[in-house]
Amino acid sequence: MIFEGGCYCGNLRYRSEGEVLGRGQCHCRECQYSSGGSPNMIMAMPSEGFTYTRGKPTGHTRDDLDVAVTREFCAKCGTHVLIRVPPMPSMVMLRVGTLDEPDLFGMPDMAIFLCDKRIFHVVPEGVPTFDKEDDVTREAVERWAGGSN
Ligand SMILES: [Zn+2]
Ligand SMILES: [Zn+2]
Repeated sequence: MIFEGGCYCGNLRYRSEGEVLGRGQCHCRECQYSSGGSPNMIMAMPSEGFTYTRGKPTGHTRDDLDVAVTREFCAKCGTHVLIRVPPMPSMVMLRVGTLDEPDLFGMPDMAIFLCDKRIFHVVPEGVPTFDKEDDVTREAVERWAGGSN
């Protein structure tokens, strides 16, 4: 599949090609900061099929964590476009709201970091949930990365 998307102001555009590796609903505290309070919807795509077709992102990586993700943003409007996760270098996590057609996401196949879930967060019925970082990482690596890299 081919997905196209970009930031709110149009400064940043991307193209993502390949098989969807996973669809997640992330409740972690960091996602709450960047989303405005709700969980984030993320779609794992092969990193080799991802390219920015317009603009260059700025990135942020916390330096106080052993394994910190890198979040890439539009430097102009601040839209957070994707997440790179060190244990899973073969994939990028697209933020579904930046897709030109967000409905192509469908529904999440897992809800993660339930340890940080707020009382106003809703997990769709039947979606498997994972509490803690270790479980999330192991499960996501097994399910999404299929053992590669
Ligand atoms: Zn922008
Ligand atoms: Zn998160």
